[in-house]
Amino acid sequence: MPYDNNNIFAKILRGEIPCDKVYENEHVLAFNDIGPQAPTHVLVIPKGEYVSQDDFTNNASDAEIAALWRAVGYIARDVLDLADAGYRTIQNTGPDGGQEVPHFHVHICGGKRLGRMIPE
Ligand code: 5GP
Repeated sequence: MPYDNNNIFAKILRGEIPCDKVYENEHVLAFNDIGPQAPTHVLVIPKGEYVSQDDFTNNASDAEIAALWRAVGYIARDVLDLADAGYRTIQNTGPDGGQEVPHFHVHICGGKRLGRMIPE
Protein backbone atom coordinates (compact mmCIF):
# COMPACT_ATOMS: atom_id res chain seq x y z
CA MET A 1 0.00 0.00 0.00
CA PRO A 2 1.55 3.36 -0.99
CA TYR A 3 1.80 6.08 1.64
CA ASP A 4 -1.16 8.51 1.60
CA ASN A 5 0.06 12.06 2.25
CA ASN A 6 -3.46 13.12 3.22
CA ASN A 7 -3.75 10.82 6.24
CA ILE A 8 -4.50 12.61 9.52
CA PHE A 9 -1.07 11.99 11.07
CA ALA A 10 0.68 13.40 8.01
CA LYS A 11 -1.41 16.55 8.50
CA ILE A 12 -0.42 16.68 12.18
CA LEU A 13 3.26 16.31 11.23
CA ARG A 14 2.93 19.17 8.71
CA GLY A 15 1.26 21.32 11.39
CA GLU A 16 -1.97 21.54 9.38
CA ILE A 17 -4.03 20.28 12.29
CA PRO A 18 -3.13 20.53 15.98
CA CYS A 19 -2.20 17.80 18.43
CA ASP A 20 -1.71 17.63 22.18
CA LYS A 21 2.04 17.00 22.06
CA VAL A 22 3.66 14.80 24.70
CA TYR A 23 7.18 14.43 23.27
CA GLU A 24 9.18 15.20 20.13
CA ASN A 25 12.66 14.59 18.81
CA GLU A 26 14.37 14.54 15.39
CA HIS A 27 12.64 11.31 14.29
CA VAL A 28 9.56 10.98 16.49
CA LEU A 29 6.39 12.82 17.54
CA ALA A 30 4.12 11.66 20.38
CA PHE A 31 0.71 13.08 21.28
CA ASN A 32 -2.44 12.20 23.18
CA ASP A 33 -5.00 10.09 21.32
CA ILE A 34 -8.10 12.13 20.47
CA GLY A 35 -10.35 9.23 21.53
CA PRO A 36 -8.56 7.70 24.52
CA GLN A 37 -9.38 4.07 25.32
CA ALA A 38 -7.56 4.16 28.68
CA PRO A 39 -6.83 6.91 31.23
CA THR A 40 -3.47 7.36 29.51
CA HIS A 41 -3.44 6.83 25.74
CA VAL A 42 -0.54 8.26 23.76
CA LEU A 43 0.39 7.72 20.10
CA VAL A 44 4.04 7.61 19.09
CA ILE A 45 4.74 8.10 15.38
CA PRO A 46 7.85 8.29 13.21
CA LYS A 47 8.26 11.53 11.27
CA GLY A 48 9.07 9.53 8.14
CA GLU A 49 6.41 8.29 5.76
CA TYR A 50 5.71 4.67 6.76
CA VAL A 51 2.31 3.01 6.46
CA SER A 52 2.67 0.19 8.95
CA GLN A 53 4.86 -1.77 11.33
CA ASP A 54 6.29 -3.95 8.54
CA ASP A 55 6.78 -0.99 6.19
CA PHE A 56 8.65 0.80 8.98
CA THR A 57 10.95 -2.07 9.94
CA ASN A 58 11.61 -2.95 6.28
CA ASN A 59 12.29 0.55 5.01
CA ALA A 60 13.25 2.92 7.81
CA SER A 61 16.87 3.55 8.70
CA ASP A 62 18.43 1.96 11.78
CA ALA A 63 18.51 5.44 13.34
CA GLU A 64 14.77 5.93 12.80
CA ILE A 65 13.93 2.48 14.17
CA ALA A 66 16.12 2.95 17.23
CA ALA A 67 14.72 6.42 17.83
CA LEU A 68 11.11 5.23 17.66
CA TRP A 69 11.53 2.33 20.09
CA ARG A 70 13.77 4.25 22.47
CA ALA A 71 11.14 7.01 22.48
CA VAL A 72 8.34 4.55 23.29
CA GLY A 73 10.22 3.32 26.36
CA TYR A 74 11.31 6.79 27.41
CA ILE A 75 7.80 8.20 27.12
CA ALA A 76 6.21 5.29 29.01
CA ARG A 77 8.76 5.39 31.83
CA ASP A 78 9.95 8.96 32.16
CA VAL A 79 7.20 11.13 30.65
CA LEU A 80 4.07 9.17 31.61
CA ASP A 81 5.48 7.39 34.71
CA LEU A 82 3.84 4.08 33.75
CA ALA A 83 6.74 1.69 34.27
CA ASP A 84 5.87 0.53 37.80
CA ALA A 85 2.13 0.11 37.30
CA GLY A 86 2.58 -1.29 33.81
CA TYR A 87 1.17 -0.41 30.43
CA ARG A 88 0.45 -1.88 27.00
CA THR A 89 1.87 -0.98 23.61
CA ILE A 90 -0.19 -1.79 20.53
CA GLN A 91 0.51 -1.55 16.82
CA ASN A 92 -2.53 -2.23 14.65
CA THR A 93 -1.81 -3.22 11.05
CA GLY A 94 -4.23 -3.31 8.12
CA PRO A 95 -7.91 -4.28 8.04
CA ASP A 96 -7.71 -7.38 10.24
CA GLY A 97 -5.56 -5.50 12.73
CA GLY A 98 -8.08 -2.65 12.91
CA GLN A 99 -5.68 0.05 11.67
CA GLU A 100 -7.61 3.25 10.94
CA VAL A 101 -4.79 5.69 10.23
CA PRO A 102 -2.30 4.54 7.56
CA HIS A 103 0.77 6.13 9.15
CA PHE A 104 2.66 3.74 11.43
CA HIS A 105 2.01 4.44 15.10
CA VAL A 106 2.51 2.83 18.48
CA HIS A 107 -0.25 3.17 21.05
CA ILE A 108 0.87 3.45 24.70
CA CYS A 109 -2.09 2.68 26.97
CA GLY A 110 -2.16 2.61 30.76
CA GLY A 111 -3.57 4.06 33.93
CA LYS A 112 -5.84 1.11 34.76
CA ARG A 113 -5.94 -2.69 34.51
CA LEU A 114 -6.46 -3.20 30.80
CA GLY A 115 -8.00 -6.65 30.78
CA ARG A 116 -7.65 -9.24 28.05
CA MET A 117 -5.36 -8.42 25.16
CA ILE A 118 -7.82 -9.64 22.53
CA PRO A 119 -11.55 -9.64 23.43
CA GLU A 120 -13.52 -12.82 22.76
P1 5GP B 1 -5.45 2.78 14.72
O1 5GP B 1 -6.85 2.22 14.77
O2 5GP B 1 -5.08 3.23 13.33
O3 5GP B 1 -4.43 1.84 15.32
O4 5GP B 1 -5.44 4.03 15.68
C1 5GP B 1 -5.66 5.32 15.23
C2 5GP B 1 -5.84 6.19 16.44
O5 5GP B 1 -5.75 7.53 16.05
C3 5GP B 1 -7.19 6.01 17.14
O6 5GP B 1 -6.99 5.59 18.48
C4 5GP B 1 -7.84 7.40 17.04
O7 5GP B 1 -8.55 7.77 18.20
C5 5GP B 1 -6.63 8.30 16.82
N1 5GP B 1 -6.92 9.50 16.05
C6 5GP B 1 -7.63 9.58 14.90
N2 5GP B 1 -7.67 10.85 14.45
C7 5GP B 1 -6.94 11.58 15.35
C8 5GP B 1 -6.62 12.97 15.44
O8 5GP B 1 -6.98 13.79 14.61
N3 5GP B 1 -5.86 13.36 16.50
C9 5GP B 1 -5.43 12.47 17.46
N4 5GP B 1 -4.70 12.95 18.46
N5 5GP B 1 -5.72 11.16 17.40
C10 5GP B 1 -6.47 10.72 16.36
